[in-house]
Amino acid sequence: MSLEKRNFYDLDYEELEELLQTWGEPAYRVKQIWTGFYQRMKDNPGGLSNIPKALREKLSDQFTFRNLTAEAKLNSKDKQTTKTMFRLADNLAIETVLMRYQKRRTLCISTQAGCALGCVFCATGQMGFRRNLSSGEIVEQVVAFERILSDIGESLTNIVVMGMGEPFHNYGNTITAINRMNHPEGMNIGARRFTISTVGLVPEIVRFARENKQVNLAVSLHAADDELRNSLLPINKKYPLDELMNACRGYVDLTHRRITFEWALIYDVNDSLEQAMKLAGLLKGLLCHVNIIPLNPTQGYGGGATTRERAKIFQSVLEAKGIPCTIRVRRGIEIQAGCGQLVTEV
Ligand code: SAH
Ligand code: SF4
Repeated sequence: MSLEKRNFYDLDYEELEELLQTWGEPAYRVKQIWTGFYQRMKDNPGGLSNIPKALREKLSDQFTFRNLTAEAKLNSKDKQTTKTMFRLADNLAIETVLMRYQKRRTLCISTQAGCALGCVFCATGQMGFRRNLSSGEIVEQVVAFERILSDIGESLTNIVVMGMGEPFHNYGNTITAINRMNHPEGMNIGARRFTISTVGLVPEIVRFARENKQVNLAVSLHAADDELRNSLLPINKKYPLDELMNACRGYVDLTHRRITFEWALIYDVNDSLEQAMKLAGLLKGLLCHVNIIPLNPTQGYGGGATTRERAKIFQSVLEAKGIPCTIRVRRGIEIQAGCGQLVTEV
């Protein structure tokens, strides 16, 4: 038995293939194992009845298969939103949120425990950075929910990388995880079904544009001038708006893909006519969509949500300038479904 077991979900298909080769296994085993875990959603080698017992035991000796422990599960009143806090092997906590809307099953996943970027209104930012998740820890959040859904004949339709952490601060593991979930012999979740949300790390936006992937990109803007954005999102001091918008324009030019801009409307902070006009100016001529969401209040920040009327006015200013804009209702607000809020509570 090896001393240090590896997380099975950290393995790529090709890595498993090579490993099985060194074990002297026939080539078809890799597909049997991969489909067992990623299509039949087995949670341990014992469930793989089509492979020999000795190989099942060898897998159990070398790998761990349950690296996330579900704790503190919360359902919203309408049962449409379920938030799960997962305990990692080293006891840190992350959260994953399932949102049901008509036929959609959207999972919001985390890429880091905590976050280093300190956006003032964000519960995750308020707790600081703990560590990056491995690609396997990112994948396993999806696996855990696919398993639950498959029991009731459902499956995930969309994955949004908008949980705890900044995905572009853990760039390699995030992209690797998406590729693994993409694998045709595995979960086969199409690239277009993923959306990565970034606070606006310019070099990674440039890098992501060159990946030539159909994964959607969302950028958290929240303010349309540097002074206000500096005060809400400290990273703006490093990557100010003109650099960020240049990177966004470069992304659209290269990929011809539409960017989603996120804007949490904070009462009397960034919900003014002036901000709406400035935002319209920034986005002029750009292939994009704006999602506005009333702020979800957090313990560490004094600001509150905008009103319905102010949100409507903000939206109408953008639409009058030809910029598509949707007001999102924050679902599951009573279960702390905002990023990082459940972990903070527990
Ligand atoms: N780090 C990435 C993704 C995780 S945060 C990013 O910042 O984009 C996902 C989204 O939730 C971001 O748009 C973020 O600004 C927003 N968000 C964080 N805290 C919020 C709150 N209290 N109310 C509303 N939106 C919030
Ligand atoms: Fe980090 Fe995103 Fe929260 Fe900012 S909003 S602190 S980048 S998780």
